[in-house]
Order: sequence, then structure tokens, then C-alpha cells
Amino acid sequence: MADSSYNAFKMAQDQFDRVAEQINLDAGTREFLRVPMREYHLSIPVRMDDGTIKVFRGFRVQHNDARGPGKGGIRFHPMETIDTVRALAMWMTWKCSVVDIPLGGSKGGVICDPHHLSLKEQEQICRGWVRQLARDLGPVRDVPAPDIMTNGQHMLWMMDEYETITGGKYPGMITGKPVGNGGSLGRTEATGFGVVYTLREALKNMNIDPSNTVASVQGFGNVAQYAIQLYTQLGGTVICCSCWDQGENKSFSFFKAEGIDLDQLRKITDRFGGIDRAKAVDLGYRVLPGDDWIKQEADILIPAAMENQISAKNVENIHKRIKIIVEAANGPTTPEADQEIQNRRIFLIPDFLANAGGVTCSYFEQVQNNMNYYWEKEEVLNKLDYKMTSAFNGVAELAKKNNLFMRDAAYIIAISRVADACKQRGWV
Ligand code: NAD
Repeated sequence: MADSSYNAFKMAQDQFDRVAEQINLDAGTREFLRVPMREYHLSIPVRMDDGTIKVFRGFRVQHNDARGPGKGGIRFHPMETIDTVRALAMWMTWKCSVVDIPLGGSKGGVICDPHHLSLKEQEQICRGWVRQLARDLGPVRDVPAPDIMTNGQHMLWMMDEYETITGGKYPGMITGKPVGNGGSLGRTEATGFGVVYTLREALKNMNIDPSNTVASVQGFGNVAQYAIQLYTQLGGTVICCSCWDQGENKSFSFFKAEGIDLDQLRKITDRFGGIDRAKAVDLGYRVLPGDDWIKQEADILIPAAMENQISAKNVENIHKRIKIIVEAANGPTTPEADQEIQNRRIFLIPDFLANAGGVTCSYFEQVQNNMNYYWEKEEVLNKLDYKMTSAFNGVAELAKKNNLFMRDAAYIIAISRVADACKQRGWV
């Protein structure tokens, strides 16, 4: 059960404070890094298809750009809040740092529900968002990307608006573009595959053969689907996945003891990652309450939906067989649940390491845009695997050496790099 009472930004700050204390970070740097450098609150007027004007609220938060231009997705979500965006921007700073790419951390959002908006209305939101921010976006300032309920089409509208305003061609101003229009091969798979590269390394360290493992996944969107694809290619079995049902306004889990069939489920899933329940039942899936994904007797849990999904309210439901939690989503675990996971000595791969494949591939997309030369998919995925594996090994080695929880080890590496960059620039 999601703990919606939990404030994601407070959680991000609590995590930061704890590590700042551990590494003895000086007071000035602490104060600087625990809040964003800049944030924008936007009102975006849109002429709706029925002729009325509706004003949408949007945000962009630039947490820190000491290591390079800001980088981070833009989400369209009816429940978006500035504090969620602040938290996500901060996590982007740590994410880019932990995988050692030369980018800072930003995030954006618009309070809206694309389920109830025509494409024309969505296009106006995209263009309006860029119009208000154009002065502080761009390949050397701040580079958006797709996130929840935004996609390559939204990115192209945003790029087109930016290029119309600035009068040049700047494909590197945004990533997650369609292939053939500045996008990188492999970007669609990158986050989910990156999750599994880190999981593969964790299993290797634990001497466990992936083909002897079973996983349960929350979500069935972009990240979940590609994570399931690569994990099953490695021999693993996914017995449960879940999704949000727009009509019922609640989530459901889909269970099959012998393992879900990814291709089959994809065919009955809408573009928002919602699985058709009736068709799933016809295909032999048991439809369970949304929270049941966490209770499954499995070796691995992969939360790949939303923040605050593993909380004090449901952490005790995690089956005693679970050995690894890979946080594919951003901020899926609240601090109380984190403590319990540590107590149970479950190996956790923290969000900003596990799901860094997306931003790493976005960085590759920018590199290709700058060169105006595009790599084959295999080259992109090999480079991604190398980056994710090196980052995982760096964190796992520190955790092992100093007997640290993986989240703390990842934070220590990420925060230290950003703090050093700020100090070297003379900011703090
Ligand atoms: P998506 O919109 O493609 O899919 C989200 C999925 O989660 C859908 O299947 C939806 O039905 C499901 N869902 C939503 N609320 C749920 C709930 N309460 N219970 C169960 N299922 C629920 O989004 P995505 O791109 O796959 O992103 C998933 C997570 O990964 C988010 O936290 C996102 O911030 C994070 N992330 C995404 C990327 C990326 O490249 N897409 C990169 C890094 C992190």
C-alpha cells in the first residue's frame, strides 16, 4: 500500500542528512545541497478542444549543476506536486553522479492527466512549458527527458518549440527523442535493461544463478517491461506484475505461478502500462489486489511504478524468501521500510543506481547529437552495460569494505563527488 502521507522531498532530505552526517560534510555544503539551486512554477494556458481556456500548473526544479548541465525527466501526472519534483531533481543529481556522467540534476512536471487530454491539448502543454522556460533550458543549461506519461512525441514538440524560439537546431536540448529525429537506439530499453544489469551483478556477487530465481514486479510500464524482458532472457521467472487501473482508480496484481508471458501481456496492455483485466483472466492470470505483488514468495522484488510504495504499512508483508530488492522506480521505499529491509539483511539496489540506465543512455544520446553521428544499438547497450556494471561494482565494493547498506554506499559516492565539484568551483 502506498504511503501517500509521506513527503518525497522530506524523504530525499532525510536520506541526504543521514549521509552528510556519516561523511562529516561541512555545514555550508550541507545547507547548499539539501535544497534546489533554482525552481520554476509555471501557469500554462491551453485552449481546450471545446474552446475553453484551461490553465495547467507546471514545474521545473534544478537541484544542482556543478558537474554539468541539469538533466531530468518531465512527468505528466494528476497528483504531481512541487515536493515530488524537488525530490526527484535531487535524486537526479545523485544518479548522474553515482554513474559518473558529467551532468547535474533537474526534474519537471505538469499537473495533468493525459488520459483525458487530446493530442492537440497535450502539444499545447508541451509547447507552453518550453515557452516559459526557454531562457533556462538548452544543451548547456538543462536538458529534459520523458518520464511518467510523457514520451518521444512530447519531447519532439518541446524541441521544436525551443528551436522555433532560438532559431537553431539543438537536438541535444532534450533526450528521449524518436530514433531518426535525434534519438538514440537503445533508449527505450535503457532504464529497464540497466535495472537488470545491476541485478545480474548482485546475483553474481551472491553466487546465485538467475535461472534459479523468481521475481515479483510492481508496474508494467516502460521500465517494468524491459526489466522483465532482460531478466527472463537471463533465465529468471516473473510470477507477478501489477498496474494501475484508470477506470477503477486502483491497482491490481497479475499472477501466474509458471511465470508471466511478457509478449502476451504486452498485447493486452495500453500505452500507459495498464493491463486489460478481463483479457488477462481469459489468458489464465489470477487477478489479485494491487498490493499483493509485495507478498509473493519470490527471491527478488522489483518496484517499478511510483514512489512511496514500500512503507511502514506493508514492509512486513515482504515474503521471508526475498533476498534482493531492486528499486527500478524512483523513491519506492520510505525510510521506515528501509530500516526494516536493513534489519532483515535484504540486499537492496537503490533507485538512483538501479534506474540510472535511462539517464546514462540520455547522456549517450546527447553525445551522439553533439557528434551528429549515431551508434548501432549494440554499441549503445554495450556502453550502457559497462557504465552500469562499473557503477554497481564501485558501490558494492564500498558497501562491502565498510559494511554499509547499499543505499548509504551509493549516497556516499554520489554526494562526495558533487560536494567536491561544488568546492572545486569555489561555491561552498
Ligand atoms: P510508465 O508510465 O511507463 O509506467 C508506470 C507503470 O506503473 C504503469 O504500468 C502503471 O499502470 C503502473 N502503476 C502506477 N501506479 C501504480 C500503483 N500504485 N500500483 C501498481 N502499478 C502502478 O512509467 P515508467 O517510465 O515505467 O516509470 C516507472 C518508474 O521508473 C517511475 O518511478 C519513474 O520515475 C522511474 N524511472 C523511469 C525512467 C524511464 O526512463 N522511463 C528512468 C528512471 C526512473
